[in-house]
Amino acid sequence: MNWRNNLRHVTPYVSGEQPRFSEMIKLNTNENPYAPSEKIKTLLNSFDLELLKRYPNADADDLRSALARYHEVKREQVFLGNGSDEVLALSFLSFFNSKSPILMPEITYSFYPVYCQLFGIPFKKIPLKMNFELDVTDYFEKNGGIVLPNPNAPTAIALSPEKIEQLLKENQEGIVIIDEAYIDFGGTSVCPLLEKYDNLVIVRTFSKSRALAGIRLGYALGHPEAIARLYDVKNSFNSYPIDRLTQEIGLASLNDENYFKKQVEKIIKTRENFQSALQSLKFETTPSQANFVFVRYPNLSGETLAQQLRDRKIIVRRFEDHLIKDWLRITIGTEKEMEEVILSLKEILEQEN
Ligand code: PMP
Repeated sequence: MNWRNNLRHVTPYVSGEQPRFSEMIKLNTNENPYAPSEKIKTLLNSFDLELLKRYPNADADDLRSALARYHEVKREQVFLGNGSDEVLALSFLSFFNSKSPILMPEITYSFYPVYCQLFGIPFKKIPLKMNFELDVTDYFEKNGGIVLPNPNAPTAIALSPEKIEQLLKENQEGIVIIDEAYIDFGGTSVCPLLEKYDNLVIVRTFSKSRALAGIRLGYALGHPEAIARLYDVKNSFNSYPIDRLTQEIGLASLNDENYFKKQVEKIIKTRENFQSALQSLKFETTPSQANFVFVRYPNLSGETLAQQLRDRKIIVRRFEDHLIKDWLRITIGTEKEMEEVILSLKEILEQEN
């Protein structure tokens, strides 16, 4: 058979990582530990089933307009997709079409190189500094575009808007995608730069700070021309951007700003407590502006640590990449869950030392 060989070795990112055991403390995929807004329950309880027999609004007008108001941009500057993974995939397809490689950090979101391989886009990984910080001047070489998350994942380190502006200024020929999946947990968004730079595309998600990973809703913000190019590609696959229920749930979430803010603050507070507890146990951590922390313990392998935690029913993310093989990415759960993690870590360290 003539299978497409470049599709054959792709391992889905979440493969094996969605355990079915509810007694596990699940801290491996950066989900939100809290339920989404109660306004969504009210919506679902009174939802008119008749609406589901019709195709959804193809333009998702209300949600696009609500997001445009939220970010103070025009409706034509908003693109919606099924999770930011789809938005990213379509962005790679739409924007990266040059013979020069696109640039991305050497340690970053593992799906970026996967999309490049799938779509035949040349790419180059740019090393980070020893402390995992990113130097934007490393991205001033000829390229076919740039993609990076801010804050970066899995390092959790954020870049300032000034640094990102430098990137945009020096790379006006190609699109610069800033993936703001984790921006609400302490970084500063570059949304205000959309006015000034038509090469900026920002990708966002409802999966993390809005606790809605289960509905698959992500979006891009950019110059109307870039957004139109994204819809060209999207519509050639499926002209309904997102389903009706997802549109309504997204709107309900946006209408509960108070709940959203409180919940994000709670996660940030838990992260701070968790990081200081880790530091008193002599763990190394990076300065996190995300809903996860990146940690390692001197002289203890990532594999051992992750396995020991798993034996205690705590699942965290570890990495095969040799550069970070001893580092773990731990999602911030509830305060109680993180206290349990600390108790388990103490136990493991006593046993190992
Ligand atoms: N970007 C980054 C940096 C991520 O870590 C993730 C989640 N794994 C995504 C995008 C995709 O999130 P979603 O498809 O749920 O919106």
